[in-house]
Amino acid sequence: MSSKYDYLIVGSGLFGATFAREMTDAGYRCLVIDKRDHIGGNVYSEKRNGIDVHVYGAHIFHTSNDRIWNYVNRFATFNNYINKPKVRFGDNIYSFPINLMTLHQLWGVTTPAEAEEKLKEVRVPCENPDNLEDWILSQVGREVYETFVKGYTMKQWQRDPKELPASIIKRLPIRLTFDENYFFDKYQGIPVEGYTSMVKNMLEGIEVRTGIDYFTDRDSLDSLANTTVFTGKIDEYYGFRFGELEYRTLRFEHEEIDGDFQGNAVVNYTHPEVPFTRILEHKHFQPQTASKIPNTIVTREYSDEYKRGKTPYYPINNDKNTKMYKKYEVLARREEGVIFGGRLAEYKYYDMHQVIGSALMKSRKELEKRANDS
Ligand code: UDP
Repeated sequence: MSSKYDYLIVGSGLFGATFAREMTDAGYRCLVIDKRDHIGGNVYSEKRNGIDVHVYGAHIFHTSNDRIWNYVNRFATFNNYINKPKVRFGDNIYSFPINLMTLHQLWGVTTPAEAEEKLKEVRVPCENPDNLEDWILSQVGREVYETFVKGYTMKQWQRDPKELPASIIKRLPIRLTFDENYFFDKYQGIPVEGYTSMVKNMLEGIEVRTGIDYFTDRDSLDSLANTTVFTGKIDEYYGFRFGELEYRTLRFEHEEIDGDFQGNAVVNYTHPEVPFTRILEHKHFQPQTASKIPNTIVTREYSDEYKRGKTPYYPINNDKNTKMYKKYEVLARREEGVIFGGRLAEYKYYDMHQVIGSALMKSRKELEKRANDS
């Protein structure tokens, strides 16, 4: 018990930052390390010529959980951004996610009843639509599938939509109203000062060392603390002994130009022949200030197969990977003095609010355990 710290927290993303905050506030000594030269993991954003750039892709905070919303509002003021992406297919622009305006633009229907009539004609019935393609065909038919989903999904996952679980697309609403909000949640927004400022506030008063790779000096880093909180890749933690978990990675092309490029923060390119999946225009993530900024920064986002050394973004939760992950999870559960958490350590397609919720829960459990032990 002579260690300098109570917790060594590997990774300064939302899991690590939340856990560190909670344990520090409870009186424990934390050291946070990160292999990158900055804090925040993939929510990291940075100001470039007056524009806060989401360096690792669009991050829009949304939750229906009062506790989590109040929690993040302790560290940042959120703006009133509501995600209403558009779809570009060929020369046409459509409202998205699929709503009455989308179906009006596609078919000319003007009321919910007319839209329902048309959908009845085009739906492709399927008894057990458990894959992505069958599910979406059973909801909206082939034309909608081919215009909005097929090309985008194949680019995003480089897999046939028939081989993907329907759960991937069930994240998206389909509405027969003019509501264009991408999310169902009660609260939504983006920190006015950017995510990096939010994470910095979360880590205030906590020792943080960036540019430190846990795996190059594992034993001596572990020895600094009684407990390690690991938020990196679980397969790497165990030396890939059961094989490598698969991910999708992303590649970004950032460009700064004059004016306003697309009049919206996110435009999805669903045509299979356009190589990128979407274009982000960062200034529109801050609607209050966008029109005052004369320049603009746009990011073309490409999806790619993950290889070691690249940034893992999306876990591919198919049967093979799920089985492999379960084996790692058994080891993790038995591990003494190590807590695993976050998208990479739990191999889960977590949203930001879910990561924070999970870190709050695990830190609370840890505090309960300590209270019982003493
Ligand atoms: N999707 C689609 N067309 C779109 C946007 C999304 O078909 O224009 C599908 C695609 O399969 C994607 C899934 O919906 O993987 C989930 O999209 P979401 O926007 O939630 O993905 P994320 O923003 O997390 O990349």
